[in-house]
Amino acid sequence: MGLIDRLGVEPLIRNYHLFYLCIANCDMRLRRAVRNLGMNPTQQEIDQVIDEFCPEASESPTMRRHHDKVLKTLEEIGARLRSEQSEMDSFNGALDRVTRALAKSASKDDITADLLKRVAATVVDVGLQRVVSANRTISRVDQNKTEINALRTELVKAKAMANTDPLTGLANRRSFDERMTACFGMPKPFCLILMDIDFFKRVNDTYGHPTGDLVLKTVADTLQRSLRAGVFIARTGGEEFAVILPGATEKDAMLIGERIRQAVEIVSVSKGVEQFSVTISLGAATSVHAGSSRALYEAADGALYRSKAGGRNRLTFHNINDNDTASDRYRIYKT
Ligand code: GH3
Ligand code: MG
Ligand code: MG
Repeated sequence: MGLIDRLGVEPLIRNYHLFYLCIANCDMRLRRAVRNLGMNPTQQEIDQVIDEFCPEASESPTMRRHHDKVLKTLEEIGARLRSEQSEMDSFNGALDRVTRALAKSASKDDITADLLKRVAATVVDVGLQRVVSANRTISRVDQNKTEINALRTELVKAKAMANTDPLTGLANRRSFDERMTACFGMPKPFCLILMDIDFFKRVNDTYGHPTGDLVLKTVADTLQRSLRAGVFIARTGGEEFAVILPGATEKDAMLIGERIRQAVEIVSVSKGVEQFSVTISLGAATSVHAGSSRALYEAADGALYRSKAGGRNRLTFHNINDNDTASDRYRIYKT
């Protein structure tokens, strides 16, 4: 967030996604492209990079394509139904004319069996044409329905991809931002826990990048195992994670955070015959005292910073009460 602000980049979801990928991935081409954007890039310049490196983040082209396709299909159905309607109108018109002609006939004697036969043959013939045409329309509309369903499936998949971190399978930063905003729209207070792996750079330097990735996956799995199914967990940056706990009090968040901290601490990762473990530092805050999702994020981030400064592998809770003095605002927990 800070980087986006500093570079003068608009706080759009797709921009967050690009910068997140740039930080989270080690694709040097992507990093170079983002670096080349420099200060105050135009949105068009940023979009070019997005289109090249993370088209799934760019809602507009994909969504626009799908949107256009659905519109085209609907137009096609509309045109078919309109042509059905006009054919139906002319069929009804023809029937009216025949009925009127028959009614006008001076006497019943004028209506010969031959005339009736011809009228009946015409009605049957036109009727059959109507049935054939109606069946064609039905099958075309069915095909359109199948196309729309396929598009819907594609859209669901594209949305899931755009919201998921490919390495860990957790929600990504974009999804996290959306969830935070959604939680702020609810009346129930909630807690946010931010986590950052301690000395992770050392892991990469000592064991190599693939093992670093394995650590990220292991931590993600540990978080999932330590939390109830359905709890929102995201990878918000390189070696940073977040958990949102709706309805949680400070005490709940402290207990859950401690459980996570201990779970990560005892898990071991293997590199060849060597085994090692990592620790995480945690910072938590409640939405009760935060006016916006950004304020809450900053409060939890401040608490996380305290955990780092206080020696790492610990959980700090940030809590502002009107009566609190500044020094009361952070409470460090470690059992
Ligand atoms: P601290 O305890 O203060 O958090 O120290 P740290 O070493 O964890 O933090 P630092 O910010 O110095 O280093 C984070 C490292 O995470 C640097 C970066 O290369 C690495 N990283 C970021 N994303 C990935 C990734 O997707 N895979 C791997 N293997 N490493 C990553
Ligand atoms: Mg970090
Ligand atoms: Mg770290």
